Amino acid sequence: MTTQVQTASASRAGILSALFAIALGLGIITLTGHVQAAALHDAAHDVRHATGFPCH
Ligand SMILES: [Zn+2]
Repeated sequence: MTTQVQTASASRAGILSALFAIALGLGIITLTGHVQAAALHDAAHDVRHATGFPCH
């Protein structure tokens, strides 16, 4: 009984996480689609430097 409740709760949490991930991904795609390319490039460039990826 308790195990079934925990399983149902865990799968509900998994669905919520998946929905959150999908919403986040769609949000990022929509955002990057509407932001101007120069601003997007600058932001990506800053993130690349901040995370230590080789750049130029
Ligand atoms: Zn750079």
